[in-house]
Amino acid sequence: MKSWWELGEGAGFSGNKLSTYQIDCPFCEERDNFEEAAHFEKKKPNSSKVLNFDTLKCGNCAGYVMVLWSSSDYDFHSGIHDFRVLPWSLTINKAPTHWPQAIQRYWVQANKSLQVENWDAAAEMARSTLQIALRDHGAVGKDLFEEINNLAEKGVLPPLMKEWSHEVRELGNDSAHPRPEQKETSLGDARDIVEFLDFLLEYLYDLPKRIEDYRGRRKAEKATTQIKKKTN
Ligand SMILES: [Zn+2]
Repeated sequence: MKSWWELGEGAGFSGNKLSTYQIDCPFCEERDNFEEAAHFEKKKPNSSKVLNFDTLKCGNCAGYVMVLWSSSDYDFHSGIHDFRVLPWSLTINKAPTHWPQAIQRYWVQANKSLQVENWDAAAEMARSTLQIALRDHGAVGKDLFEEINNLAEKGVLPPLMKEWSHEVRELGNDSAHPRPEQKETSLGDARDIVEFLDFLLEYLYDLPKRIEDYRGRRKAEKATTQIKKKTN
């Protein structure tokens, strides 16, 4: 997004009203329990596009969140909208819902382990997440080393991502196959491995979804234009 006027255009949540059921209170984690404390609007000149500035009060802890939201200017289906919340929750409870369930679960555990400073657990969870993601993309092999190479040979992982995956594998290996004399995973390594993992998941899941969303939007816009032409 290069301009706030693009908020809600192309990608977002269904419907043209703010979906507070998607918003968790950043202070007490309670979901969808807000009352409106303030509402302001700014309309784009020479356009029907509107940016909404809402302040919501949490019904549980009485904390406030600011929500900037806008619905799509294109009127196809029942509309879409998107929003940004400030402040955001610092607790990681959920992963992007377009990731497979098992990956969501392991990824959340990797991040939660980082938050409570369990570096070994974070590294091992990150390694497991990597392995599930590769298998989900059809990797075969007797161990993670072979599975990474297998996906690279198939062209699913480009050379840089292959190297990246081996870094995650090596860092996670010590925690997954510990030896009695083994040193604890360091804070830096644990953070790096989870960050490496995020880049990999972005490449394997987020980027393809963005392309798919883009194609869906193009198709819907085309259909709307054709309907308009017919009715004119
Ligand atoms: Zn709250």
